[in-house]
Amino acid sequence: MLTNLQQQPADALLALIKLHNDDPRADKIDLGVGVYRTGEGDTPVFRSIKAAEAKLVAEQDSKAYLGPEGDMGFVEALMPYVFGKADPSMGGRIEGMQTPGGTGSLRLALAMVKRAGYSRIIVGVPSWPNHAQICADLGLEVVEFNHALASGTTDMDALRAAIADAREGDAILLHGCCHNPTGIDYSNAQWDEIAGLIAAAKILPILDLAYQGLGKGMEEDAYGLRRVLAAVPEALICYSCDKNFGLYRDRVGALYAMVGDPADLARVMSNGHNLARANWSQPPDHGGAAVRLVLEDETLTADWLAELDEMRERMREVRAKLAEAGTAGSADLTPMGGQNGLFSIVPLNKDQVLAMRTKHGVYMAGSGRINVAGLTMGNIDKFIAAVADVTA
Ligand code: PMP
Repeated sequence: MLTNLQQQPADALLALIKLHNDDPRADKIDLGVGVYRTGEGDTPVFRSIKAAEAKLVAEQDSKAYLGPEGDMGFVEALMPYVFGKADPSMGGRIEGMQTPGGTGSLRLALAMVKRAGYSRIIVGVPSWPNHAQICADLGLEVVEFNHALASGTTDMDALRAAIADAREGDAILLHGCCHNPTGIDYSNAQWDEIAGLIAAAKILPILDLAYQGLGKGMEEDAYGLRRVLAAVPEALICYSCDKNFGLYRDRVGALYAMVGDPADLARVMSNGHNLARANWSQPPDHGGAAVRLVLEDETLTADWLAELDEMRERMREVRAKLAEAGTAGSADLTPMGGQNGLFSIVPLNKDQVLAMRTKHGVYMAGSGRINVAGLTMGNIDKFIAAVADVTA
C-alpha cells in the first residue's frame, strides 16, 4: 500500500542548500534560505537568548507536560509587543497559545477556520509557498490576487478587487510586515484603507507576523496588524519568534484569536487546543521559555531589542547599497532600498538565476528571491556585477 504514494517534489530551497554546500568555489554567495546573517556571514544565537538559556538550565526544575497551549507566560509576555502596551488583550477579546513556530500557528489558524466553516482563503501572490501548501493539505481553496507591481509597490487595485469579489464567509491572509518573498509592504495609509475594506466586506483577517522588528521597528511593523484589529470584530494572528529572536530550529511561535465578545474566547480557543492535540499535542518548550525569560528581564529585553536594531540596520545598509547601484545590466535594483525585511526579488528570469549560480556561484531561489542578509560589504559588489553580467 505504501508504494501507492507518489513522489513529492523536493523543497527547492533545501535542495539549493545542498548545491551551495557542494560548490568548492571560495567566493560563492548563499542568498537562498531565509535566515539572518551578520556582516561576517554568521547566524549567531542572540546574546539575550544565550543568557536566558543559561538561566533556564540553572533554574528549570521540571520538564513535565505543560498542556497543548504551551508556556502561557511566553504567550502573554509577547502580547504588548504585538498588540500594543496600552491594551494588549483589546479589552479581554484576545487570547493566545504557543505553537511550533509560525508554521504551527498557521496550520492551527487554517484548521480552525476550516472547522468554523470557511472554505476560501484570499492570498496575495507570490507568497510564502507554505501558505498554499497548508491550505491545499486542509482542502481550503486559495483565491489569489497579485501582491505587487513590477515598479516595486503593492498592487492595491488587485487587493481592492479581490476584497470586492469576496463573499461573506471568506478569509484573507495578509503578511503583517516584511513580505516574503517580495519585501514589498503596504504603507500605513494603505493599511488604513485595507482595514476599512476588510471590515466592510465582513471577511476574516488572518495576519501573519513572522518578521516583527526586522522591517522598520517593533512598533512600526505592527501598524497594519493593529489597524486591522481595531476595525474588525474577529481575527486570527499567526506569530513567529524564529526570526526576531533567532530561534529558527527551536520552533517558537504563537497563535492569537481575537473575538467580538470575550465570552466566546474560551470556546474558540478550545478548538485551538484540541487541534494542537491532534497535530503535535504540545509545542516544544525550550525556545518559548527562553523568550519568556528575555521578556521578563528588563536588561535582557533591552539587549534583545538592541540586537534586533543592529540586524535591521545592517539590512538597511545592504539595501541602501543595492539602491545606490541603481541598475545592474538591465535589472533595476533601486526599489530594494525601500523594501523591508530579509527578502526582495531581483528581476531575473529562470535562465539568469541559473547563470548566477553556475557562472558566478551566487545561490538564489528560482523566483529571483534573495535573502538580503546573505549580502555583506565584502560580497555585494561581486553580486551586483554578477547581476549586471547575466542581464547584459
Ligand atoms: N510566515 C511567513 C511569511 C514566513 O516567511 C515564515 C517562515 N519563513 C513563516 C510564516 C513561518 O516561520 P517559522 O515556522 O519558521 O516560525
